[in-house]
Amino acid sequence: MPARRLDGKVLAAAMRSEIAVSIAARVAVGKRPPGLAVVLVGDNPASHAYVRNKQKACAEVGVVSTLHHLPVDTSEAELLSLLASMNADPTLHGILVQLPLPPQIREEQVIEAVGPLKDVDCFHPENVGRLVTGNPRYLPCTPYGVIQLLRRNDIELAGKDVVVVGRSNIVGKPLALMLMQKPTSSNPAGCDATVTVAHTRTPDLGGVCRRADVLIAAAGKAGLITAEMVKPGAVVVDVGTNPGPGGKLVGDVAAGVENVASALSPVPGGVGPMTITLLLANTARAAELIDG
Ligand code: NAP
Repeated sequence: MPARRLDGKVLAAAMRSEIAVSIAARVAVGKRPPGLAVVLVGDNPASHAYVRNKQKACAEVGVVSTLHHLPVDTSEAELLSLLASMNADPTLHGILVQLPLPPQIREEQVIEAVGPLKDVDCFHPENVGRLVTGNPRYLPCTPYGVIQLLRRNDIELAGKDVVVVGRSNIVGKPLALMLMQKPTSSNPAGCDATVTVAHTRTPDLGGVCRRADVLIAAAGKAGLITAEMVKPGAVVVDVGTNPGPGGKLVGDVAAGVENVASALSPVPGGVGPMTITLLLANTARAAELIDG
């Protein structure tokens, strides 16, 4: 039997309706709508597409988004100065700097220049530290999008063997952390799973992946996970987004896995829409934290 489809589009639409209702209720009592500043430096076509999708989603739920598109030769000082003015702007609750940045700008400097309360991506070391210690302010968008995709499809994670392929600061590392944590009232994202993290130095990737009840591919390598690497009946989440033939987007999971897995998220239409939805949720939360 082919795998059940973990449809992020349908789920994201339902979650966005909930967010829109909560924002409308704030505005109805005279509070400011959540404001999100999106900063894009240069002309990376993939970044342009991501930014367009984010802005469209903001408009759908009532988040006021403003795009700051800076030239590719923008200096680090110019960007830091823009971020300082955004940190002080009371109409802005979230600030998102689209990565990657051109080489003259140091990513860590930029991440640390976004005020922690406005850091809706959850990249600032203060917010990462809070996440690590089980008292998160924000939950990182893609990792929490994966967890929501699983939970809202009634896929149990507690006590399960979960393998995450990839250890980046944006996806693999925070996802592994949230999956292994104990759920508490201040950390509802904790999943109580037993987690293995694989990367390019992992010998026998296939053997490691085959142990997984839940396998999460976040390597950015088209077709890396083949059917032989999946335990029959396992749940597979494909985070990867890679350029495929004819400009199509393809994941890290190869064709054929749908015949072995019990559930599988598609690319596109799986984790991507969930990531944007969690960004909207974080921006709405930022407005509550900042404005009350
Ligand atoms: P990244 O920074 O390039 O990290 C990739 C990770 O995968 C690294 O830890 C790397 O290991 C590991 N890896 C790469 N090739 C591997 C291989 N052959 N075997 C085992 N491990 C391998 O990428 P990222 O930012 O985490 O993103 C990962 C993928 O998710 C990309 O395709 C990205 O476009 C996609 N993504 C999607 C969304 C979404 O919303 N759908 C959001 C963010 C990212 P090393 O550490 O050893 O190098």
